[in-house]
Amino acid sequence: MATKAKPTDEFRDHISTVDDQGKRIWVYPKKPKGKLYNYRKYVSYLLLALLFAGPFIKINGLPLLMLNVVERKFVIFGVLFWPQDFFILVLAFLTLVVFIILFTVVYGRVFCGWVCPQTIFMEMIFRRIEYAIEGDYTKQRALDKMPWNTEKILKKGSKIGVFLLISFLISNLFLAYIIGIDELKKVILDGPLEHKAGFGALLLFTGVFFWVFAWFREQVCTIVCPYGRLQGVMQDKKTVVVAYDYTRGEPRGKLRKNQERTEGDCIDCNQCVQVCPTGIDIRNGAQQLECINCTACIDACNDIMRMIDKPEGLIRYESEEALETGKKWTFFTNRVMGYTAVLAILLTALTTLLLTRDEAEATILRTPGQLYQKAENGQIKNLYNISVINKTNHEMPLTLKLLDKEGTIKVVGNTLILPAQGIVEGVFFAEIAQKELKGMNSEIEIGVYNGEELITSTDTKFLGPAN
Ligand code: SF4
Ligand code: SF4
Repeated sequence: MATKAKPTDEFRDHISTVDDQGKRIWVYPKKPKGKLYNYRKYVSYLLLALLFAGPFIKINGLPLLMLNVVERKFVIFGVLFWPQDFFILVLAFLTLVVFIILFTVVYGRVFCGWVCPQTIFMEMIFRRIEYAIEGDYTKQRALDKMPWNTEKILKKGSKIGVFLLISFLISNLFLAYIIGIDELKKVILDGPLEHKAGFGALLLFTGVFFWVFAWFREQVCTIVCPYGRLQGVMQDKKTVVVAYDYTRGEPRGKLRKNQERTEGDCIDCNQCVQVCPTGIDIRNGAQQLECINCTACIDACNDIMRMIDKPEGLIRYESEEALETGKKWTFFTNRVMGYTAVLAILLTALTTLLLTRDEAEATILRTPGQLYQKAENGQIKNLYNISVINKTNHEMPLTLKLLDKEGTIKVVGNTLILPAQGIVEGVFFAEIAQKELKGMNSEIEIGVYNGEELITSTDTKFLGPAN
């Protein structure tokens, strides 16, 4: 009698979508259906609604999320960050990375199957349009094999048309998250001649999205995505993944009528393989790099189990250790506790930085080539250049004051008006009595005020005569 052996690792030597000659094997996944697929549909509707509504949502007049790499201006949850806040962004990015690692260590690739935009667009939009136009996997395969006739031209043509349209829509959305919805409106309303760069970007993104979803598809997950590539180092045997229970399923064997069954519960119907969008066989073993944990195979197998009157869950969310030992899954492993501690430290540092962050940031430098001057009243004068960045969405009339010395500040020319989300530059004189100074080179602190409110301060040098 065959033993309930754990599958071998031989399958890990090659990619399921590449043949021995190195050519791509096109995946025709069977249309999925089932409880988990329905849940994934609801989750995707919610996420898509949020994604498309995102550019229109504003907090204090600023977008929810805008990553303007062109102007180096970033808005996250309505908070404006400039390149000067780079260290906060780096810390936020590190915190996010640790959170993702922690989440992956515990729950595996739940993100890939349920939240990743690539999976949502591919499986919940483009794939479903393909099923609607070309039919299920057998019909798609037959259509690809048939010579070009009216039916094929019509079906392929309409599919390409709809794919291009949706790619264009996603391209607009993508650009809205980069330049903001107001700028995007201008690009659309003023026409391509007025905004050649913006329109060029729209066309470029459309082409890239179309190429990804019409042709490149699952290869984004199996070849390109760094998160997918790193699964091997983030997951361990305690990680929960979509897994085939080989202890229950093996030895597999076809179901035969009127014959007492001596094999395991897997009837080798191949339904789990046929629905897989990355073309793998989950029965080869848990933690396959190509598995995006989409749960389609769980639904397919549960359907079969119900049909043959066996309990559901031959393929289910489970840890490799639980499958091997039958032990219950535990949350707190040493690795999880270690990552949680690092995450807590990073979150504390990030919160502190965000709470103590100034509304504005000033750079004050002595005007190059200028020494000090003596005023008529005997005070010593230094000339400075000031540049202030506004990190809020409201305009601020600025006044400058010396914080640690007696003296006055006189702004040259107009008063300093700091525009919303903008920068103001100016020139001013600082006048200080000689008795306040310590030698030729004194340190002074200048406060930048919005009305009576001190919004930021900065240190600079003040030159004077030797005492
Ligand atoms: S093996 Fe199952 S969960 Fe993994 S990608 Fe294929 S169908 Fe989805
Ligand atoms: S769907 Fe279930 S029963 Fe059918 S081959 Fe896959 S694991 Fe076996």
